Amino acid sequence: MYQATIKEVIDFEGIGLHTGEYCKIRLHPDDSYKGIRFLIKGDYVPANYRYVVNTKYSTDLGKGDRVIKTVEHLMAVLYMLGIDNLVIEVLKGWEVPAMDGSGYFFYKNLKKLIQKLDREKEILEIKSPISVKNCTARIEALPFDQFLAEYVGSVEGLLKDCRVRFKGNAKGLVFARTFCFDHQVEALRKAGLAKGGSLENAVVFGKDGKVYNFGGLRSKDEPIRHKLLDLIGDLYLLGKQIKGRIISYYGGHSLNYDLVKSLADL
Ligand code: ZN
Repeated sequence: MYQATIKEVIDFEGIGLHTGEYCKIRLHPDDSYKGIRFLIKGDYVPANYRYVVNTKYSTDLGKGDRVIKTVEHLMAVLYMLGIDNLVIEVLKGWEVPAMDGSGYFFYKNLKKLIQKLDREKEILEIKSPISVKNCTARIEALPFDQFLAEYVGSVEGLLKDCRVRFKGNAKGLVFARTFCFDHQVEALRKAGLAKGGSLENAVVFGKDGKVYNFGGLRSKDEPIRHKLLDLIGDLYLLGKQIKGRIISYYGGHSLNYDLVKSLADL
């Protein structure tokens, strides 16, 4: 398997989910084999776990005052498309645009731009089981002959212990939008988050699985699929594809980050 970049420059723009600001990023082809890098105010911030500055409600990268929020959906799409090298120039704002809250627009536009490079991909192979946990969640990483990622989760009033799986079919995940509950909105806004959140870029649940969005869910397990998308995006902060099986039970960005740090130490 060879590394890849993209054939030509492409822009993505729109409101940032948390900052509420208009954001614009420009993806440049790159064949310097330096991985995925954000270019912020003239300085590079690698898309690498070493530069994670926040994992609460989103995964944010930064170096000093150069910060880019909510990288996970774009990173998940780059992982699934096998794109290894890119310069992502941050032109406006300090967040990856939310688009429709899923990875769909990134996927649709980048899929046709893949450009193979000459060097072999770097693969991180899980040779023995590892697990990380906190009070309510755990993630296991197990040896396996390919990359397989699974998420087991529940949504109050809608889904109980629902399991979804990624074995290579990006289309099964990229459509799944970010979500929250109506009772969380006020607290998020008070914390200065979700300022750009709306029914245009997030699913909002009420009691008993009620969905506020016109048209409802894109699949019954959409929120669980989104959590798996988040997991894959966070895993890509290793900067490598993984050979192994990852199973998350109710995990989120912080636990994903813990796993990535454990895997990086292998
Ligand atoms: Zn997400």
